[in-house]
Amino acid sequence: EIPECDYQPQPYTGPSYEKILEIRQKHITPNIVPHFKKPLLIHNGHMQWLFDHEGRRYLDMFGGIVTVSVGHCHPKVNRALEQQINTLWHTTNIYFHPKIHEYAERLAAKMPGELKAVCFVNSGSEANDLAMLMARMHTGNQDIITFRNAYHGMSPYTMGLTALSTWRFPLPGVNNGIQHVMNPDPYLGLWGGAACRDSPIQTDRKCDCTPETGCLAGARYYEQLEEVFKYSLPRGRVAGMFAESIQGVGGTVQYPKGYIKKAAELVRANGGVFIADEVQTGFGRTGDHFWGFESHDFIPDIVTMAKGIGNGFPLAAVVTTPKIAASLGQALHFNTYGGNPMASAVGLAVLDVIEEEKLQKNSLAVGTYFLKCLAELRERFEIIGDVRGKGLMIGVELVSDRATRAPLSAPHVLEIWETCKDMGVLFGRGGLNGNVLSICPPLCVTYNDVDMALHVIETVCKQHLEKRIRNWRRN
Ligand code: PMP
Repeated sequence: EIPECDYQPQPYTGPSYEKILEIRQKHITPNIVPHFKKPLLIHNGHMQWLFDHEGRRYLDMFGGIVTVSVGHCHPKVNRALEQQINTLWHTTNIYFHPKIHEYAERLAAKMPGELKAVCFVNSGSEANDLAMLMARMHTGNQDIITFRNAYHGMSPYTMGLTALSTWRFPLPGVNNGIQHVMNPDPYLGLWGGAACRDSPIQTDRKCDCTPETGCLAGARYYEQLEEVFKYSLPRGRVAGMFAESIQGVGGTVQYPKGYIKKAAELVRANGGVFIADEVQTGFGRTGDHFWGFESHDFIPDIVTMAKGIGNGFPLAAVVTTPKIAASLGQALHFNTYGGNPMASAVGLAVLDVIEEEKLQKNSLAVGTYFLKCLAELRERFEIIGDVRGKGLMIGVELVSDRATRAPLSAPHVLEIWETCKDMGVLFGRGGLNGNVLSICPPLCVTYNDVDMALHVIETVCKQHLEKRIRNWRRN
């Protein structure tokens, strides 16, 4: 059953679909490969719903890549933006404007410990660029550590951090001073540890860990990290390490409990700082905490944020300690738009809505329900290799073989995403092989919405199974 939505979509008045295709081919670059055979033309949104040019309604379980945090065109955010548009669009940060100050104070109040110095920028890549600069300036060291399978941006600087070959260009020097270490991935990694993930569900019961030993797989990944310090870093010194608290683009990868905290301690002991990339995991996304790093039980030295911070408005930030911020010294660090009046007004309204509508709590409640139902589906369908995540950041790994964990092949994956779309639900894709169904809707989704999404997932799993059975019979 499709949940009700009393919003009437605006009529589409843009260029014809054919004209859009023509413009795209001629003028839009880079031309990222769309998910669907006939790419969607979306022109209107309302909360968790999107509408295409023909007026069809879709449940948005992808949230514009984990970005639409409080809902499309949320009335309160719209009003705040409208008010600001009629007051002042832009002024350089050489002058003061009140909104950026109000907003910086509000955002800083959300941060623990000494994390009180805020710098606004425009995208996640820019935020990570700046974090890298701060780490190097502060420590006087060069080397930066990230995980294989991580995504931290597309700028020439952050592309070096991103360790997914699909997202890298053959640029000379892109890896300068960057070390990619083994990803502590409890599902696809060498040593498992899925039962030790911080998730309300478990899909892997083979685990010998005890409270005394801690996660044994996590300990082995940690030894690998120690080896990198021993052999690969000049004098074992490091500028910093980046990590997401749950790896997003990489396929909703959750690390074994305890690993991140120990890694942060090791990095600090070797002269570096720890940078939490909260671009996907911040602003209540994971439900149990406002920031993803809080569930790893430590306070990072630098936190980068984007996406959900602005509900789709181009806004991002770096928050660090005054001491680290001061390490940029006399050199001027400047960007034209960061935290401009419109962006700050939107950022403030987003924080208001998350608090007033208790969206973090909703993320936890609805997300936990979703995860539990998905774990049940996994019991019934072999194609679901793994279900993981927390709050409304959920990954469903589709496999062709449960035992080997081999990914479902690309044509099958595409067929499944297409059917979900035809049934009115949009999901994301993650993981190196693109076989992880990524679920990260606006945090306002309801139990009824989840039921609709579950029905669609169940249907595609059944269809896939029936096809397999037909093939076996034929062979
Ligand atoms: N960090 C993470 C964890 C991300 O997921 C992304 C974007 N997918 C980025 C950084 C880069 O953000 P942006 O696309 O805004 O540059």
